[in-house]
Amino acid sequence: MKRFFYIILLILIIGGFIYFYPEIEWSSPEVDIKLESENIGTRPFDIEIVDSGKGLKNVTVLLSGDHGESILVHKNYPEGVKSDIITIKLDPKKLGIKSGPAELKVSAEDRSRLKIFSGNKTIINKEVNLDLVPPKLDVISTEHYINHGGSGLVVYKASPDTVKSGVFVGDYYFPGYKGNFKDEDVYLAFFAYPHDVKPDMNIKLFAQDQAGNQKSTGLYYRFRDVKYRKSHINISERFIDNVMAPISQEDNSSAGYKEIFLKVNNEMRKKNDAKIREVGSNSKGEMMWQGAFHQLSNSKVEANFADERTYILNEEPIDKQYHLGYDLAVTKRYPIEAANGGVIVYADELGIYGNTVMIDHGMGIITLYGHMSSIDVEVGDTVQKKDIIGKTGQTGLAAGDHLHYGIYINGIAVRPIEWWDKKWIKDNVISKINEAEGEFNSQNEDASPQN
Ligand SMILES: [Zn+2]
Repeated sequence: MKRFFYIILLILIIGGFIYFYPEIEWSSPEVDIKLESENIGTRPFDIEIVDSGKGLKNVTVLLSGDHGESILVHKNYPEGVKSDIITIKLDPKKLGIKSGPAELKVSAEDRSRLKIFSGNKTIINKEVNLDLVPPKLDVISTEHYINHGGSGLVVYKASPDTVKSGVFVGDYYFPGYKGNFKDEDVYLAFFAYPHDVKPDMNIKLFAQDQAGNQKSTGLYYRFRDVKYRKSHINISERFIDNVMAPISQEDNSSAGYKEIFLKVNNEMRKKNDAKIREVGSNSKGEMMWQGAFHQLSNSKVEANFADERTYILNEEPIDKQYHLGYDLAVTKRYPIEAANGGVIVYADELGIYGNTVMIDHGMGIITLYGHMSSIDVEVGDTVQKKDIIGKTGQTGLAAGDHLHYGIYINGIAVRPIEWWDKKWIKDNVISKINEAEGEFNSQNEDASPQN
């Protein structure tokens, strides 16, 4: 009799197990708090919750600290939800929270019937540091004169919690570099006022801390508009056959003249400029140059910066591009001199620019030398002002032997003439550096401009 009872009990247990089995799972939800650091501020962050079994039932996010405990999120899920991403953005006023240590608690429950009334629960407690105070930012340099298409320098101080800072001109960002002054919190940021950005925009100095708090302040400056030239260039079919088709490196047997032209002058130019931008935005933080930049000896400027060129083929305008440098001509195969001290960061063929060298002078400033017939340097070489880096030529998209010379800040082309001008360098770079409090540690210390 007793034996019979045990058999019945066993059948009931097995039966119940089989009945409930599909409703049971053993694994708890996975919770991933996606924080860039343990400092959290008002920058939004995500919490990802995944339950690969029966799905999510509910989730609660709490923040506890000096202010007590606040519920940031409580959410119940309908059946069948297996994952969710919750974005948290703290509102310090509403929550009454202040900077200081705090704890983030996330609990997530799934729909498993393992525990009859409640599912599997995951609870994560994470210690965080509430940082709700943005970095401090003070502009040190005073006189900022900026030409449309030209360059600027701002010297500023940012509080030690700063992890990223620099200048915004419209959407263009130019990072600041520190470590050049005795005061470790003093930065230099060179920036471009791009020739194709509309005049008199707000220029903003900006700093961000580890918690993502941002501080920005407008930069007071005097703007000088510059009229750039517009020109029309007639393109012959012969030029497309002899110069452009070979550059395109493609089989153009079935392509029309216009198509070949656009492939090179438009598509390839865009790719090449993107490469320059990439190289230019990886500049070293140290200033490797001194005084005014050197203009190629005995050279004359044959084509100007930011000329807007409309290309005409058989009386039809087919393309419009800006010329982002100077064309400098002397004699054929003339030795090219480095415009200033720096490190070679590019020495290779580059589409429309032909054989090209780029020199990183540091702090975002690079110079570019195009159409070279030969290159005498390698990536990694250090050069001084006037060192020979190769010879002029006609490689790439060039109608005759000349040097295409460009200067870029963080990959954005700027007016080269400013950098050749001793007085501009003195007024816009050296005087600002001298103006900064503390002593300047680099070789530019007793900065006498030289050329
Ligand atoms: Zn050119």
